[in-house]
Amino acid sequence: MNEIVRSLETPALSTLGGIDCDVHPAPPPTAALLAYLDEYWRETFVMRGVDRLSLAMTASPPRAPINARPDWRVEGTPAGAMLETVRAQALDPFGTRIAICNPLHGAMIMHSDDMAAALCGAVNEWLAREWLDKEPRLRGSIMISAQNTELAIAEIERRAGDRRFVQVLILAQNDEPLGRRRYWPIYEAAARHGLPVCVHAGGSARHAPTATGWPSYFVEAHVAQAAIFESQLLSLVSEGVFAKIPDLKIVFAEAGFTWLPSFFWRADKTWRGVRAETPWVKEPPSDIVKRHVRFTLQPVEAPPEPDALARTLDHIACDDILLFSTDYPHWHFEGTAALSAAFGETLAKKILIDNPLATYPRIAADLSTEAAR
Ligand code: ZN
Repeated sequence: MNEIVRSLETPALSTLGGIDCDVHPAPPPTAALLAYLDEYWRETFVMRGVDRLSLAMTASPPRAPINARPDWRVEGTPAGAMLETVRAQALDPFGTRIAICNPLHGAMIMHSDDMAAALCGAVNEWLAREWLDKEPRLRGSIMISAQNTELAIAEIERRAGDRRFVQVLILAQNDEPLGRRRYWPIYEAAARHGLPVCVHAGGSARHAPTATGWPSYFVEAHVAQAAIFESQLLSLVSEGVFAKIPDLKIVFAEAGFTWLPSFFWRADKTWRGVRAETPWVKEPPSDIVKRHVRFTLQPVEAPPEPDALARTLDHIACDDILLFSTDYPHWHFEGTAALSAAFGETLAKKILIDNPLATYPRIAADLSTEAAR
């Protein structure tokens, strides 16, 4: 694995009580969701045989090394499928105080608006009952299918009263670029409830993951994610989403971040040359991104020398932008070496605790209530 990550065992990590902003419980077998569907969908699924299908997303091949660390695999079940192994592997060794669950389920990419919404609702209910009810360190993401605005908002409204749900979850690739107006009411609903919108790597496959057409192999689709995130970032800024909804926070998960310096330079330079076209973008795009968008840590796609990562951080020039994540159970580092020595002690603490607390008001409120007891 990456040298920088391997050499950066941080002994203090387990004592700091960090907030892990991207943990993946394995999506449930479809049959396990029947109990959380209404009568119509239960009957429909059984009649169609959908209950026997796996609706896990195929972008994560279950037996590929990238998808699960060898020591986090459990014979006979998908990695991350059982609460006790998540406790023993993702929470206890890192001393994690809070972990945000992002189940990656195919519900988000169904072509039927109604089936997508029903499945998202079932997965969210499953998450609440099977995980959040049983482990107080876990928090949830409200999984929605962004293709139907009305149904997506209905799901946000249904869940928002449960304060263990701390963000809204969508995938990076959708029907249209994420800055388009069709998504604004979803963002407004999220912001109204103090919920950041997490945009996780992956997509609905309505479009090819590269701008030049459909690739053949996983490596192409996975590496292409960074370009997708760049496009979405520029779409959100250029279409004026943050000017319209100043309270909106976006979290890019599993997006990487070492591409940010070159993105900032290109976006800011070009904006200066064509800014008359978008008068609502009043500042350089990099300034807007630094205020509104956060990036989860893992995977760190950095060169092996800590100095190189430190230089990249200097170029990003913003200590607020990174949120700690293990991306459990995906294989990006060994042991508990999720944090690079390049961050230094002060920035490491910001990434582990301060930045997540500033991003997730519901978690900040919980921890301050706990501290007051
Ligand atoms: Zn992830």
